[in-house]
Amino acid sequence: MDQNHYQYSLVEKLSFVRPGGTEEELRAARILLGEIEAAGGEGSLMEFQIPGFELETCAVKVCAPFEREIPAIPYGCAGSLPQGGKEFKLFYGVKAREEDLLGKQDLSDTAVLVDELKLEGYKRLCERKAGAVLVVTGQYYEDLTQCSAYTRLLREKFLGCGKLPVFMICAHDAIELLRDEAETLHLEMRQTDVERTSRNVLAVIPGTDLAGESIVLTAHYDSVPVGIGAWDNATGAATLMYIYRYFLENPPRRTLRFIWCGSEELGLLGSHAYVKQHEELIPEIKFCFNFDMCGTILGSNLIFVTGSQELETFARQFCRHEGYASEIMVRVHSSDSAPFADKGIPCLGLSRGSNITSIHTRHDLMFPIGAKELKANGDFAVKMIAHVAQSYMLPVPTGMPEDMKKELDKYFQRDTESK
Ligand SMILES: [Zn+2]
Repeated sequence: MDQNHYQYSLVEKLSFVRPGGTEEELRAARILLGEIEAAGGEGSLMEFQIPGFELETCAVKVCAPFEREIPAIPYGCAGSLPQGGKEFKLFYGVKAREEDLLGKQDLSDTAVLVDELKLEGYKRLCERKAGAVLVVTGQYYEDLTQCSAYTRLLREKFLGCGKLPVFMICAHDAIELLRDEAETLHLEMRQTDVERTSRNVLAVIPGTDLAGESIVLTAHYDSVPVGIGAWDNATGAATLMYIYRYFLENPPRRTLRFIWCGSEELGLLGSHAYVKQHEELIPEIKFCFNFDMCGTILGSNLIFVTGSQELETFARQFCRHEGYASEIMVRVHSSDSAPFADKGIPCLGLSRGSNITSIHTRHDLMFPIGAKELKANGDFAVKMIAHVAQSYMLPVPTGMPEDMKKELDKYFQRDTESK
């Protein structure tokens, strides 16, 4: 295959809806395995269990002082209501802050409408026994399809506070509910929790004389349930395959562990599972490169530095050396490198950003992606990885500085727990 178009063709092959734990995600995993084998390598699937749900019913209806059906989609792994549904008073709780809920100690007969669902607000709603929660999504001029609304799962931290039935409705309907002074809603929600299987695709290139030290390379290949996830993250998955093919032919001194992660969009579940299932490997993993969103025709190269000042300096110097224009940001990269950073492993996230398209929507299509730009991101990554994997001494030691540890606590919402 023409090397200039390798990544682009693979992005095309992977561009279909492929949410974590579905048959379509498995289909994408098999495409990746096929690419590994076609290159003469050996790959494997690492299974892990993820939360899922079966929906029986989800409906929102105004019953007084007028009648109207409101289109809604459920949050998954959330609470259910009695068979046949239940009536609730409607209350607009804005962001469920303390001041939004003044005088509302017991919300058990109330459906609380909120602009957003953050952990602290949700916890407050649980404490006040909210009967149900309606979360607003999108812009006022969009319906649920136009704003790419999709079912989200209530995550572990939320479920730790309690299990409420949560509905998503569009901003347009929310405005009408308040403007027309809807008082009573009839809500239906029946769902059951189930376990599903998701998979990471793994491949290893053993190092030559420093094989006992590993570098982990990650990119997620799942997508959200709307849109084909071309940019996020078929581009990263394809770039990682491009890198794999290079190093298969040119094995470096250190071992390279490639992980195409499943279920990233459900909360980094694939990378979390890897760290958990491979605890014995953690001490030998010295570095992590993550690829999330590459190759847009318009845009800037980005490097996310999760690590020390020294790591930032290394990234900056290396970009200068290669003449690679890049914005360098020191922060937790909200992607599969985070669970590795949390183990004290220095992480660099290679990405390319643009605000002319948007991820997690039906607009994440092939059009903004370019073959040349993908290859440029891939070629730079190969050089940077080779530099780290070949060097006599690693550019930085393992370990996270205190301020980054705090940011990781915040990112993993460990700071809100103690409050
Ligand atoms: Zn992503």
